[in-house]
Amino acid sequence: MPDLTAPPRLRVPGAPLRFDPANFRRPSRLTRRRPPSGRRFHLWVSGCQMNESDSEYLRQGLLAAGFEAADELDQADLAVLVTCCVRQNAEQKAYGRFRELRGWKRARPGRAIAMTGCMANKEKDRLFARLPDLDYRFDMREYEAFIRDLQGEYETDPAATGGAVLRQGLTAFVPVIFGCNEVCSFCIVPFVRGIERSRPLKDVVEDVRLFAGQGVREVTLLGQTVNSYRDPDGGARLSGLLEAVERVPGIWRVRFLTSHPRHVHDDLLLAIRDLPRVCEHLHLPFQSGDDRILAQMRRRHTRAEYLEIVARARTLIPDVSLSTDVIVGYPGETEEQFQATLSLLQEVAFDVVHVQGFSPRPRTTAARQPDDVAPAEKKRRINVLLDAQRRIAERNNQRWRGRTVEVLVEEVAAGRLIGRTRQNKVVVAQAPVGGEVATVRHVLVEEASAWQLRGTVVA
Ligand code: SF4
Repeated sequence: MPDLTAPPRLRVPGAPLRFDPANFRRPSRLTRRRPPSGRRFHLWVSGCQMNESDSEYLRQGLLAAGFEAADELDQADLAVLVTCCVRQNAEQKAYGRFRELRGWKRARPGRAIAMTGCMANKEKDRLFARLPDLDYRFDMREYEAFIRDLQGEYETDPAATGGAVLRQGLTAFVPVIFGCNEVCSFCIVPFVRGIERSRPLKDVVEDVRLFAGQGVREVTLLGQTVNSYRDPDGGARLSGLLEAVERVPGIWRVRFLTSHPRHVHDDLLLAIRDLPRVCEHLHLPFQSGDDRILAQMRRRHTRAEYLEIVARARTLIPDVSLSTDVIVGYPGETEEQFQATLSLLQEVAFDVVHVQGFSPRPRTTAARQPDDVAPAEKKRRINVLLDAQRRIAERNNQRWRGRTVEVLVEEVAAGRLIGRTRQNKVVVAQAPVGGEVATVRHVLVEEASAWQLRGTVVA
């Protein structure tokens, strides 16, 4: 079994890979079959922001080790699939992508396929029996060992492992806590990502400092339950980490994902209110509006407690935007219980809602219950929520008409600038002469739809 209590092994981006032969060992979870014949790699990523962030670290590590990124699969020698297994369709997507790669691999000898991410962790070496064309499987927690293994194959010059710089755009994800201790009945994350391990605050700040030096202006601190962060050295909570990160010169905005309602306390809400660079946005999954379903889900909060947290957040942070995750069709969910979810959605009036139909995941408690809500009924319930949410989002956004918002410009095209407000709302505005990416503009909002605000740059 992997040592899940070990500290995370992510290194600081931009720092040289430490190639220490004394520490070199081929881990049991990395299985090598046929190495690729060249050094060009292509990454395919599915799933959550954590996977995106992991992939960026992997990409950085490969580049630093002397490998070359190939944007086009056709030019690559090694394809790496970073997979997800949070729902059955995420796994199907990964297997589908793998099937497509079989033809690519057979078209030229020497090509290789590697698989990592949550699905690869869940399936372990069974994957090799199931996918005979697979060459490598590795745990992302040991991505450095995978890279060292490849380096061993190609005997790359260890000197080539230094100096590469992680290239980020204007925004970057920074993992701060791995794994999850919550064991919600439906969720596979604790099984594939292990128990919680927070990164030292100083390492996170160092990452952010390096990103800022490369032009990153907005960072999102990531964790499955980001608000149970606890600095292993000094004991700082997420509020303390936010304070440390926002002091990094060059960083204009700080966000964080995903929060569990159980761990939202005043210190966090006050940090959002009082720290000028921390954005007024909280992603707070509620999953169901019915107390019996919440208890079965082992969410360890009730509907009333969730509403209390929302009320407290809105009292302390008047312009806070709220987003959430919801599951419909949980085993045994009746129409009445679904209506409770709909009513909670309407009562809170979220800005953004992510709705999923229940998907039984192996090893979870919920998978032992009958998946008794028919797929067509799950689809209907999803559509009912999405319909309601579209109207709510439009109403919420109308409130921004006539107000001036601060927009971090992410794109300028066809005379228009596109960016986001501090509340994470997309804004489209006529670009002024010299309107540039990576600037902050003030936009007077003139129109609003469910999906975006439109307006004019005022200053
Ligand atoms: S808190 Fe989130 S990641 Fe953790 S078990 Fe529950 S749903 Fe999964």
